[in-house]
Amino acid sequence: MSTPTTITSKPKEPENDFQFAKMALSLMAKHNVSPAPENYDIWFHYAKGANKELVHEVDTIVNNGMVFTQETSSYIHNKFIMPNRSQKVVDEAASSAQKVLGDVLKVIHEFDSETQDYHQGVDKYMEAVSQKFEGTGVAAIVKELINATAQMKQKGEKISKKLEESTNEISQLKKNLQQVTIEAQRDFLTGVFNRKTFEKYVDEQITICRDKQSELCLMMIDINHFKLFNDRFGHLLGDEVLKTVARTLTDILKGRDVVARFGGEEFIVILPETPLEGAMKVAEMIRAAIASKELKRRDTGENYGTITVSMGVARFRHETDTLPTLIKRADDALYVAKNSGRNRVSREI
Ligand code: GH3
Ligand code: MG
Ligand code: MG
Repeated sequence: MSTPTTITSKPKEPENDFQFAKMALSLMAKHNVSPAPENYDIWFHYAKGANKELVHEVDTIVNNGMVFTQETSSYIHNKFIMPNRSQKVVDEAASSAQKVLGDVLKVIHEFDSETQDYHQGVDKYMEAVSQKFEGTGVAAIVKELINATAQMKQKGEKISKKLEESTNEISQLKKNLQQVTIEAQRDFLTGVFNRKTFEKYVDEQITICRDKQSELCLMMIDINHFKLFNDRFGHLLGDEVLKTVARTLTDILKGRDVVARFGGEEFIVILPETPLEGAMKVAEMIRAAIASKELKRRDTGENYGTITVSMGVARFRHETDTLPTLIKRADDALYVAKNSGRNRVSREI
């Protein structure tokens, strides 16, 4: 078991991946972590330092003197590494498949309308020919020709039907793909936007806010003592709490306000066209709504008490802010809320 140590959240910056790899291995040795591939993956990311949530989670575990069991490693890996990877794969697959399906559908539509034109033309022509040669010696030949053409027409119609079926299947595939693309924008547990989608949205809103010189606020929300809740009632119930908090947030937020899961038990909200006073009011409403919810198990009615959140609110500064600086001030305010007793909202200093 590793003794509690303080690892700085910001590891030194090695020049290349070899140095990250060396750092990862030496940290693993230091903390008695078995050299399994999954563990190496985690510590390599830790050494790199870009995945802040992962760094935070690993720091938390180490600083609490917890052991890196197989279960802990899988939890971190599934939670902080896999979603990023699978989302990238889904994004790439979805966009190329959308294009291919679109092209196939276009070809089918063109082919189908051309064969229909052809069949209509043949019908008209055959009728005229059979009338013209009625009662003559050529009639038998014409009749055969008509039969052969009728067979061809039947085959053509069969192909058309098959094409129609394929078209329906492809349209369904396209819909499924759209669904997958939408799901990839969201946090799989709570259904609110994930961080990547949120950042894209905020970038757009910041541009609008700069153009219009309008107000914009951002809030960070962190569940209080959530680790204790998990330890007492288990992760599954903890997950239910995360869903409840997310639902409360989406119920209260309106219009262009958008909420995302920032990571772990933290949520982030952007409030476009909202001054700081207004944002503080919304934040207080959220805080009170969460604190007043009794957590109950649906099937047995068992009561788990209540949970509370702490919140930090910051206002966008047109001249100097970028998204990270805005988040930093909201985060600093959140820490003030934590340190001054939790279950409260603090505004930026
Ligand atoms: P504080 O009041 O200072 O915020 O304390 P805390 O316990 O909420 O914060 P800490 O950062 O120490 O622990 C966060 C905990 O959140 C640890 C982790 O078990 C839990 N957590 C993070 N993500 C999930 C999740 O997806 N599901 C569940 N059930 N728990 C999670
Ligand atoms: Mg936290
Ligand atoms: Mg917390």
